[in-house]
Amino acid sequence: MTDDTAGRPAAIDPGDPVAEAVEGRPDDRDLPFDGHLHTRLSPDADVAIDTYAAAAAARGIAEIAITDHVDFDPSAPAYAFADLPTRERYVRGAAERWAGRGVTIRFGIEVTYQARYEPEIREHLARGPYDHAIGSVHVMRDDPYTRERVAAWVAGRSFAEIVGPYFAEVLAAARSGLFDVVGHLDFVKRYLAPHVPPAAFAAAPELYEPILRALVETGTGLEVNTSGLRQAAEETYPAPWVVARFRELGGSRVTIGSDAHVARSFAFGLGRGYEIAAGAGFAEVAMGGGAPAGLGEAPSRAGEPIVRANPRASSTVAG
Ligand SMILES: [Zn+2]
Ligand SMILES: [Zn+2]
Repeated sequence: MTDDTAGRPAAIDPGDPVAEAVEGRPDDRDLPFDGHLHTRLSPDADVAIDTYAAAAAARGIAEIAITDHVDFDPSAPAYAFADLPTRERYVRGAAERWAGRGVTIRFGIEVTYQARYEPEIREHLARGPYDHAIGSVHVMRDDPYTRERVAAWVAGRSFAEIVGPYFAEVLAAARSGLFDVVGHLDFVKRYLAPHVPPAAFAAAPELYEPILRALVETGTGLEVNTSGLRQAAEETYPAPWVVARFRELGGSRVTIGSDAHVARSFAFGLGRGYEIAAGAGFAEVAMGGGAPAGLGEAPSRAGEPIVRANPRASSTVAG
């Protein structure tokens, strides 16, 4: 390690982010893609895109999708944080640099879905040339799940009432048909973890049912977001049984992402995510909204079910 005090500009990350991103667990290597990553063009991340690309090359992860936050609520942190041309230039530039080095980089987005901004979101996605559009419900400043409010919110309420506002917004996101996938479907588990255990979610499958049906009806994919494995929930968003139920209902599109905001989280839990998708009966896993037909097979670990990356970016049409 170099001496950080020896004349290095303060802007350089402490430690060695590439080494941190390369490290990772043995299961989280040699996989088709990580479909959910945040760079310094997200307000809550400070990772250079080349850090992810270098780590992907070193770890045998064939594709990565850069899905920086875009918010439409003017009071939200990612509102106008980085405009579309800036984000696209950043990602496409890196894609060119890494194209011959074994890593495909997709230009994605993670939209914070709020029903009241649906017209603006629709307009943005219609003109944004995204390869992979994730729509996610986040916990916003005025929501009952913030650290300051969550204890008072859960007191005296039934489980259905507690998760009601979050699930209603996720249902609207699924029904909108705007996204390739809905991200971290039950992310509210993270905020409820000290008060409501993940088991309470598993005991209420009926609350997931309309959401999963809406995903199937609109042809929207389901994301297996592995960030929950490193957070208090200690399981993916959503849990394996939800992925299995989605499959039973006719769901055909699943994506997997680590949702890294720091270098060391790159691809974290990805191996488990692929296992969950395979365990639910999915024979292929795709990014973007294009049809899997005619797409090349990405490397997968020997003896594992076939998983395919979906390079929608190779077409000129964004959906
Ligand atoms: Zn998110
Ligand atoms: Zn994210």
